[in-house]
Amino acid sequence: QSSGRGDVPEMERADKEVSVAAMKEYYKQFDPRSYLRYNYIPPRADFTRTDSIVPWKLSCLHLIVFHAIGDVHGRTLIDIGSGPTIYQLLSACEHFSNIIMTDFLEVNRQEIRRWLHGEPDTFDWTAFLQHACELEGKGCSWPEKAKRLRTAIHDVIPIDVHSPNPLHPYSLPELADCLVSSFCLEAVSPDRTSFQKALTNLGTLLKPNGHFLMIGALDESYYQVADGVHIPVVPVDQEFVSATLKSCGYEICTFQCYTLPQDMKVGVDDVAGIFFVKAKKK
Ligand code: SAM
Repeated sequence: QSSGRGDVPEMERADKEVSVAAMKEYYKQFDPRSYLRYNYIPPRADFTRTDSIVPWKLSCLHLIVFHAIGDVHGRTLIDIGSGPTIYQLLSACEHFSNIIMTDFLEVNRQEIRRWLHGEPDTFDWTAFLQHACELEGKGCSWPEKAKRLRTAIHDVIPIDVHSPNPLHPYSLPELADCLVSSFCLEAVSPDRTSFQKALTNLGTLLKPNGHFLMIGALDESYYQVADGVHIPVVPVDQEFVSATLKSCGYEICTFQCYTLPQDMKVGVDDVAGIFFVKAKKK
């Protein structure tokens, strides 16, 4: 099923390279502040509603990391394509002491570093931190949670999921126990073949028996990355994501889907739903 690099015909390979390069060009227009404003304020981040997108994502991450079989743990966790966001690590920072955040764009890495250093005028994650503390129910305060996350994050580094060595030139001291990725592969791949290759590339970063926690968009064809700027997204569904993970050597542990309520369609993308998958590398 999986077509290794050597199997791709010469013409097709040249086309793919152009398409991947075109995606990288599109990303030059990504504006972190606009992206955060489109996706991480109400109604998409309304903590008074369980059917709002962000509370749904946080409860998936919380349930998997805290209450499942309890097998998502270790030392090193790599967050793939972090963007300018930290919400995806709020549960994981309780179980992984060495978190590495990654992004293709320096503007996003810079946004994360500014939050890590507590600089003024960064995005306000307070409600997200409070919600994660409430889910955990251990009486942790949000400033304490922020401190725990900042302590766990050890690096913010460049990544290119389309490279066979995605973190080059960074040399990873040890393979990761867990990979987390939210809205990355479908949003940076020109087609399903590239998505699959990117997943293969990422597999080189993960230990056998390690977990991949992936959140992504269902049936999305574009999203907005700055005012008036749309980037193409490769539309994926549960069947494709599951089959691709299996073809890359993963066992599917959990697969959950969420359908967007009408009022979450705020005109910044055409996403139909969201998937959350926990997969284990065999
Ligand atoms: N993880 C964040 C979230 O949950 O909102 C951001 C997701 S955003 C839709 C996609 C991210 O992928 C952007 O931050 C973008 O810079 C990054 N990206 C673009 N090209 C990439 C590549 N070739 N390799 C890895 N990440 C890439």
